[in-house]
Amino acid sequence: MRSVIYSCEEHVEEALDDWVYGEGTFPEFEKLEDIASMCITCGYCKNRAIYMVGNECSDTKYRK
Ligand SMILES: [Zn+2]
Repeated sequence: MRSVIYSCEEHVEEALDDWVYGEGTFPEFEKLEDIASMCITCGYCKNRAIYMVGNECSDTKYRK
């Protein structure tokens, strides 16, 4: 199971589509903090990631 998809402003819709297609559910997505996004690149291009798409919250809930 994939964890999260990072994307830039331009590709966030594509990331959401990919998630819905792959998982069959609608993901949570949130804007990254400036510091967090500084070293993360978009999964679709070379730009800096602005958004994180995925169900990371429910994932950590299961691990507890
Ligand atoms: Zn991109």
